[in-house]
Amino acid sequence: MPTSSTISNIKEKQNNFFAIGKTKEITFRKEALKKLLAVIQKNEEAICNALYSDFKKSKFESLVTEVVLVVKELQLSIKNIDKWTKPKTVKASFLNFPSKDLLYTEPYGTVLIIAPWNYPYQLVIAPLIGAIAAGNTVVIKPSELTPATSALLENIISETFSAEYILVIQGNKDTAQELLQQKWDYIFFTGSVKVGKIIAKAAAKHLTPMTLELGGKNPCIIDETAKLKLSARRIVWGKFVNAGQTCIAPDYLLVHKSIETDFIKELQKEIVKAYGENPKTSKDYPRIINTSNFERLSAFLKDGKVLAGGECDNTDLYISPTLLQNPSLESEVMQEEIFGPILPILTYLTAADLEKIILRYEKSLALYVFSENKVFAEKVLKDFSFGGGATNDVMIQFVNHRLPFGGVGSSGMGAYHGKHSFETFSHKKSITKKGTWLDIPFRYAPYGGKTNLIKKISKWI
Ligand code: NAD
Repeated sequence: MPTSSTISNIKEKQNNFFAIGKTKEITFRKEALKKLLAVIQKNEEAICNALYSDFKKSKFESLVTEVVLVVKELQLSIKNIDKWTKPKTVKASFLNFPSKDLLYTEPYGTVLIIAPWNYPYQLVIAPLIGAIAAGNTVVIKPSELTPATSALLENIISETFSAEYILVIQGNKDTAQELLQQKWDYIFFTGSVKVGKIIAKAAAKHLTPMTLELGGKNPCIIDETAKLKLSARRIVWGKFVNAGQTCIAPDYLLVHKSIETDFIKELQKEIVKAYGENPKTSKDYPRIINTSNFERLSAFLKDGKVLAGGECDNTDLYISPTLLQNPSLESEVMQEEIFGPILPILTYLTAADLEKIILRYEKSLALYVFSENKVFAEKVLKDFSFGGGATNDVMIQFVNHRLPFGGVGSSGMGAYHGKHSFETFSHKKSITKKGTWLDIPFRYAPYGGKTNLIKKISKWI
C-alpha cells in the first residue's frame, strides 16, 4: 500500500503539472484521448482475458458492456472536444446593457476517480474520458476485487501517460482512505451507498465537489397488458448479464397477479434458452466476485420458493440464475440491493399495491415498466422518483450517450456519459463582457428619486 507521503508526493506532482497549464490546451487533451483510444484498441484481447480471469466474464459480454461503450465515448469526445470547449454565448441581460454574456468551461484541477469491481474496466475508463476531455489531471483507484483488470489498467495507463498527468494507484479501502485525506478538486465515486456516505464525508472536509454513482433496489413492473414472452426474454437478459452484478439490473419484479403463472413459465423458458439446462457449463455465465458476496447471496435462497435455479457451488463461486417466488417484504432478500443472480417475483393488483412496495425503499437507480398500456406506463414513470429507466426493456438507457446516467437521492448525485461527462468534470464560469461605449448612470448613488423608476422597470424586465 502506498504510504501517505507517497500519496501526497503524487498529489503535489499532479498539482504542479496542472498548474503549468498543459492540460488546458485542447490539442493536448485531444492527443491524450487519441492515445487512450489507441491503447484500448491495442489491448482489447488482454482486457477480455483479464475480465475472464477475474470472474469468468465471457468475451461477448466484455466487449459489449466494457469495451465497445468506452470506445464509442472516446470517439465522441475526440470528435466534439473543440465544440464543447468553445465559450458559449448566452442571451445578455437588459440590466447589463451593453454587454455580451458567455459560459466558459474550465477544468477543476486534480481529480480522484474511485471505481467498483462489477464493470471494473468501463467504470474506470468512462469517467476518465470526461476528466481528460475537461482538462484535469487524474488519479484512479480501481477495485481490489478484480486484480487482473486493475493490474492491466495500471499497465495501460502507466505506459501511455506520465504519472504527473494520469496515474492508477491500486489498493483496498485503506488506500482509498489515504487518498481521501488529500484535498482533491473533484471526486468521482462509483460504488455502494454505504461507501458513498464515507466519500461524501471526506469530500465535505475540503468542500470538494463530487459525483456519486451508487445503487439501489430497482423495481421492474410487468402489467397485465405486457407482451409476456418478449418481456421475459429482455428481463432474463438484463438480470443475468454479469450474473446480476449490475447496478441497473432489475432488483425485483412486480408482476400483475392475473399473469403471474404464465409469466413465470416464460421466465423459466428464457433462462434455459440463454444458459441451457445447466448454466454452470455455459460459457456465457459469469461467477460471483468473491466469497463474501457468494455467502451473502446464497443466504437469500431461503427467503422464497425457488422456481428456477437455486444451485450454489462455493468452490467455483457459482450461483445459478434463480427465480424466487413471493419472498416476504420483511425477508433479508427484500431489505437491500441484491446485486447477484437472484430475482424475487412479487405480485400486485392495484396501483396502491405498487406504491406500497416501491415506496418502502430509497429512490432507486433505475425503474422499469413492461406494459402495452401507454397511460399506465407514463403514470409509473411520473409517479416515482428514480435515476433513470426504460419501458418494455431493461438497462438500455445506459447506452445512449445523450442520456445522462446517474442516480437521485440515495442512488447518487450527478451524472455522466457523452457530453455530460465533459460537463461533470468542468466548472462552468459565467462571464459578462461589459461594453465601455455607454454607461447608464442609474445604478450609481445617490439613489434619491430613483425608487419609483426601479419599481416600474422591474415590471417589464
Ligand atoms: P464498494 O462501495 O464496496 O467499493 C467501491 C470502491 O470503494 C472500491 O474501489 C473500494 O476499494 C472502495 N472502498 C470500499 N470501502 C471503502 C471505504 N471504507 N473507504 C473508502 N473507499 C472504500 O462497491 P463495490 O462492491 O465495489 O460495487 C458494488 C456497488 O457499486 C453496488 O452497490 C452497485 O450498485 C454500485 N455500483 C453503482 C454503479 C453506478 O454507476 N451507479 C455502477 C456499478 C456499481
